[in-house]
Amino acid sequence: MPNDTQARFIEQVPTLESYWRSVILFGANVASYKFALGKSLLELSNSPDTFISLEQLSEPFSRNLINHIKGGRKQTTSRSSRFLDACKKSIEGEINQDELLATTSKLGFVNVIDAFHIVNGTEIPTRFFTDERKSSGKSAKGIRLTDELFQLKETFQSINLPHEVESRWQLVEAAWDLNIARNLITISYDDDSGLLFTKDRSLKRVDVTSAQAALNGYQKGKCFYCFRDIAIDNHIGAPAEVDHFFPHTLKQYSPAANINGVWNLVLACQNCNRGVAGKSALVPSSRLLERLNRRNDYLISSNHPLRETLILQMGALPQARRTLLQNMDSWAIERLIHRWEPNDELEAVF
Ligand SMILES: [Zn+2]
Repeated sequence: MPNDTQARFIEQVPTLESYWRSVILFGANVASYKFALGKSLLELSNSPDTFISLEQLSEPFSRNLINHIKGGRKQTTSRSSRFLDACKKSIEGEINQDELLATTSKLGFVNVIDAFHIVNGTEIPTRFFTDERKSSGKSAKGIRLTDELFQLKETFQSINLPHEVESRWQLVEAAWDLNIARNLITISYDDDSGLLFTKDRSLKRVDVTSAQAALNGYQKGKCFYCFRDIAIDNHIGAPAEVDHFFPHTLKQYSPAANINGVWNLVLACQNCNRGVAGKSALVPSSRLLERLNRRNDYLISSNHPLRETLILQMGALPQARRTLLQNMDSWAIERLIHRWEPNDELEAVF
């Protein structure tokens, strides 16, 4: 079903990164193949060739999947898959690498190559590869990487993209693996490790993914407050910090306030989080509160797996969530007194 928020996300910032993220972050998934293909494309964009045969594609594709199968988590919602069975046999040493790759190129891409660019039932206007499986006059069947994929690789954000695919993959797996209906999975944040976790049926804690990678897809690698570039690995740019929008110190006034809930977590640059003019234990302005509300509404209206967590934490109706934020704000300013805004902001990108 078409979804206004997702469509707006694409229209507002029609960058290559936005299109890529719409492929990775949106959409109900019945198998994890899209993530395996996404990671493979990012790897292959380092190669000088534009034509990638199915045989060549089989190596990174099956390797990425096998890495996840080894983690013991479900990779599909269907009962059986001949291709996944072959991956498992490869792990057990029952088939060799050549047999694995042959099976992968025969069975692994049946749906995923067609489906990759479909978002909300419609193909996005940018393609990261073209399908050359049916081209006549060629001996090899495969895909051709487009200029857009190579341009994506040149963007500042490209170092974050594999982490985002991985994060989304892990969130989807967690829901399937725990056999929790998507509408029941709840995700919490652990201050010490920086990890999002959930609880299984015996209430044992299960780490899901890093909070940074999970939140970055929405923020497009920008600080939530000042829109400067932040990096979720430490190689380029200021490292992203997980920031409590309503400051963490409020926990001492009310342990029940769920300050560590995903609804209250954003990624911020170090300056905004705890620099000289940083937010520290101040309460963000109502303009920023509006931004937080928009972010939460957005994650809920997309098929992001954090959606269910946010609904449980904030309510299903937009008005209920708005009221909750308003009440939280009134309560917070009573205790912390001071408002905060960043000294300066770059152009808004979300
Ligand atoms: Zn900042």
